[in-house]
Amino acid sequence: MRMQGKVAVVTGGASGIGKRTAERFVEEGGRVVIADIQEAAAGRLCETLGAAAAAIRCDVTEEADIAAAIALAGQRWGRLDLMFNNAGRPGDPNPIETMPAAGWDDTMAVLLRSVMLGIKHAAPVMRAQGSGAIVSTASIAGLIPGSTATAYSVAKSAVIQLTKCAALELAEHGIRVNCVCPGPIATPIFGRSAALPSQLDQRVAETARAPLAGFQPIRREGRPDDIAEAVLYLADDRAGFVTGVALTVDGGFAAGMTPGERTRIWAPL
Ligand code: NAD
Repeated sequence: MRMQGKVAVVTGGASGIGKRTAERFVEEGGRVVIADIQEAAAGRLCETLGAAAAAIRCDVTEEADIAAAIALAGQRWGRLDLMFNNAGRPGDPNPIETMPAAGWDDTMAVLLRSVMLGIKHAAPVMRAQGSGAIVSTASIAGLIPGSTATAYSVAKSAVIQLTKCAALELAEHGIRVNCVCPGPIATPIFGRSAALPSQLDQRVAETARAPLAGFQPIRREGRPDDIAEAVLYLADDRAGFVTGVALTVDGGFAAGMTPGERTRIWAPL
């Protein structure tokens, strides 16, 4: 019951990583606002979780929707201990030369601006309490250029930098700000499973980076549970000295090639 008495808002809480995090938060004794554009799915999850959950339609590109989700936590339960800025979807797939400006702006609005707005509206509530944890979902795409299309990669990289800047701004108010960098995780975002090579930008598969795209050193599918546990850790008071961190949870994907892959790729040398 690590989250007993705690209240969370989870954006993108109706599916995948956000859904599993909301479930785990409640299993650990907390209460959660599930904020998602998928209103029906959020409502269904809320019914499953019972009185410890509330659902609200929230488009994270709309500042008023984010403010309303946080306000709902306050109305229901009078506090906010975890703001999980997690909602997301694939970005514009174009390379820069054919990138529509609107596609770029849209990607940044969903994946980056939304995180800034989540921090902006959570901070005053947490500051008044004197405590709180903000966690955002970045990605290994924010660490490894070329692992996904450019717009997504840039947005996630900026989420990591935003996390660190916010951690510095808010530390003195008792607010910790961290992010998670998932590797490939089996959620609906890329289709049925984390069998990513067919889903990822095909250009990636044609480069020397191909082994990174498909085979993390820990050779099993990444699961929403893996990320939910990392988020719960960062939300926990036991992580009270941890802020400004990008916690990579990827089965070793970002660490590089295994000895076997290295031998295969560099065999001639
Ligand atoms: P998912 O599709 O299962 O869940 C994403 C949720 O976000 C959905 O419920 C969707 O409705 C919601 N959403 C999308 N746009 C929204 C908007 N404008 N406003 C509110 N809600 C919105 O996918 P997931 O894999 O659980 O993704 C969660 C986060 O994890 C995303 O930020 C994604 O970029 C990131 N991520 C995923 C992976 C992966 O391999 N699955 C890897 C790295 C990072």
